[in-house]
Amino acid sequence: MADVPAYHSTLQTPTLELCSSPACIFWPPLYLPSYTSFGVDFYVRQCENLTQALFGVSLRPKVNVKLLEYQAKGFFDRADIPIPQERLVLSGAQARTAAQEIDLPCVLKAQVGVGGRGKAGGVKLAHTMEEVESHADAILGMEIKGERVERLLCCHAVDIKQEFYASVTTDRTNRTLLLMVSPAGGVDIEEVARSTPERILKIPVDPLLGLQAYQTRRAAMFLTQEKDIQKQLASVLAKLYKMYVANDLSLAEINPLVVTNDGKVIALDAKVIIDDNGLFRHPDFEGYRILSADEKLEQEAKGKGLSYIKLSGNVGCIVNGAGLAMATMDLIKRYGGEPANFLDVGGSSSPEKMIAAIDFVTRDRGVRSIFVNIFGGITRCDDIANGLLEATKDAPLPLPVVVRLTGTNEDEARKMLAGTSFIPAIDMADGAKKAIEAAGGR
Ligand code: GDP
Ligand code: MN
Repeated sequence: MADVPAYHSTLQTPTLELCSSPACIFWPPLYLPSYTSFGVDFYVRQCENLTQALFGVSLRPKVNVKLLEYQAKGFFDRADIPIPQERLVLSGAQARTAAQEIDLPCVLKAQVGVGGRGKAGGVKLAHTMEEVESHADAILGMEIKGERVERLLCCHAVDIKQEFYASVTTDRTNRTLLLMVSPAGGVDIEEVARSTPERILKIPVDPLLGLQAYQTRRAAMFLTQEKDIQKQLASVLAKLYKMYVANDLSLAEINPLVVTNDGKVIALDAKVIIDDNGLFRHPDFEGYRILSADEKLEQEAKGKGLSYIKLSGNVGCIVNGAGLAMATMDLIKRYGGEPANFLDVGGSSSPEKMIAAIDFVTRDRGVRSIFVNIFGGITRCDDIANGLLEATKDAPLPLPVVVRLTGTNEDEARKMLAGTSFIPAIDMADGAKKAIEAAGGR
């Protein structure tokens, strides 16, 4: 397979639902060539999935779960770290009600996963009820770095005297935890690290000993000379550390941690990232995971019995069996095309599944042609043909669809599709070539 181009796909790991039969445990050796063309990484991850299914052990390092500010503030609140009075709202009218409860002035803050929302206009101060409503309406629906704002946090605004930075992370190189503080809060901490690194104090914390009182005192003294504020800061830092460890976090950050004009220390912003490796200890955290648009689509497909993973190419694939689906993608790559997706319709293929499959594939705007590649074993080809005809009965085919059907009842299937606008293919290679051509060539 030396002439097969290496394909380091950006595939997210298909989960084990991919396997429609127990025979899937034989996949790795069987499909090694196919796997290798998708990158060793992909192959390894599949083996890990198998391990998880067979032995219930997860080997896969997963992605961390980054919380939105209001969720992170919930962690702070439970850890007894002071936060401003605030409410989560979904509309301008709700913001007004919230503002009445918590009092003016209010700060309206876009709840998005991306950074830099302040600069993008996602944080606004409101002095009147009218401003609360108009700012809320302006921020809701705004796009910040490609993310649509759907939720707002309406917080009671405080008078800021000083802004600090504080965080707890894990320092993998030194195998310690790390408490970081800076009197230069409210701004991008990376910028402080670049321009004035001496304004950041880093205190390594032995995870076995935990954060010691002398360490929190030292951090507090680095931030201010005022005894009373020092005391409050030391208490917040100790709570932040405790919260970090108890919840298996990979980041707990407060920026800014402010001192108000009346001498109170309050966390105005919160950033919390949960370490996925510890998620098994916190089953209740699963709900914090906010799915990306692609992940949502994949979940929806799963609900219809389809294993669908969106990719970036223009040849949509509808295939039965995960191995065949990967081989199909390989073949498309081999002939110079780009698969738009992985899609396994599974073993038994009802017309409904075909309809759903066509629906999912065509929802991807980048798709220019579809390659239906079916091996009829348990699946009967005439069932598939029937599904295809059903799926396109009411609406004409949105795109050129190349069909390769082989195996059980293939002759019947071919007869059923004869004279329709489906483009027949003799074999897989022929189908792949025709689909690439229909998509606009290589
Ligand atoms: P970020 O820019 O996305 O990190 O949003 P933050 O919540 O950190 O807020 C950005 C800045 O807005 C803060 O550094 C403050 O200067 C300002 N800000 C946020 N909340 C308040 C508030 O209650 N009162 C005042 N005066 N300023 C605030
Ligand atoms: Mn901030």
